[in-house]
Amino acid sequence: MRKYRIKHIICAGVLLISIVAGISNVNASTAKRKVRPVTRNNQAETTSVANSTSETKATQNQTSAKSIPTDNGVYHLSKDSKYRPYLWKNADGKTPDYVAYVFEPEVFNGHTVFVDAGHGNNSAPEASQKREKYYPVEDSKLSGMNTSMVGSKAYGYGVEARNTRSVYDNTEIEPEFSLRVSLLLKDKLLKKGYRVVMSRTDYNQNLSNGARSALAGETSDIMVSIHSNTGRSSGTLTFYPGDKDYISEETYPGYTSIMGLTQENIDLSKKLAESMANNITSSTGLKNKGAHTAVLRIFSYSSIPTCLVEVGFADNITDAAILGTKKDLIASSMAQSIDQYFGK
Ligand SMILES: [Zn+2]
Repeated sequence: MRKYRIKHIICAGVLLISIVAGISNVNASTAKRKVRPVTRNNQAETTSVANSTSETKATQNQTSAKSIPTDNGVYHLSKDSKYRPYLWKNADGKTPDYVAYVFEPEVFNGHTVFVDAGHGNNSAPEASQKREKYYPVEDSKLSGMNTSMVGSKAYGYGVEARNTRSVYDNTEIEPEFSLRVSLLLKDKLLKKGYRVVMSRTDYNQNLSNGARSALAGETSDIMVSIHSNTGRSSGTLTFYPGDKDYISEETYPGYTSIMGLTQENIDLSKKLAESMANNITSSTGLKNKGAHTAVLRIFSYSSIPTCLVEVGFADNITDAAILGTKKDLIASSMAQSIDQYFGK
């Protein structure tokens, strides 16, 4: 069973177990970058709204109550981020500009959602030279944890994505699917009054797993990372942080506490992951494979409730047809889950 599971959940697994795969450049009319600046007016508006929606614990980190400083809608990772030393560097050893894209709603409801479109285009030559630490802590802190990812093995590629084409129409690859769903989700959330922060808005952008999570933690209340799967299985799988890794079936004692993931955030992540699995499957007819704990790099760098959604299997004809034709429904189900999470 262990091999079966490893084989059948490749997508999430590659976040931890690095596989570098080149994908070709693609164009999509839906993927135009569009950012809106944060204005001073947002600040007064958002503060009062945030105060009136405090019925949920999910507002605890209070990032939404503040406006986010941006440069024409582009947010830059803070210079003093504790994660910065562990994030990837450019091939020349220099630190890249880690950025995310901020979208403001007409009327802010007080909650900010980080929508991560997962893997971007990693065909850029420099991508294979960018390496990032698996666990954003010093190796000495990992002595009690069952991991071999220390020392020179502590670094891996952070942008891997498959170029497997959907068996439904033989066109779409994962980075395209996840971006299209993410852009739909962004629009739906904006209409509901959420502020949305995105890790990428077109196919040519790419960002490491760690940087996505670090940016999410500085800007947002929750993070949703969107993916499609391969492995000839079928159904929706969602993940949230925990010491037991569903993918490898290994347990990493102390993982969550070493990474500084609080029990409250883990509980909230689970709530979000379960809601995503339930709503996506009930609306689309995809099989519900459940919400499970996982040890993923994108979780290791997280300071907010977070979940990773493997919507379905692109190499299963039934799943792939749904991935290909029901993106709007998938995005609506995700928005519904986020509403439920915030008690709306
Ligand atoms: Zn993926």
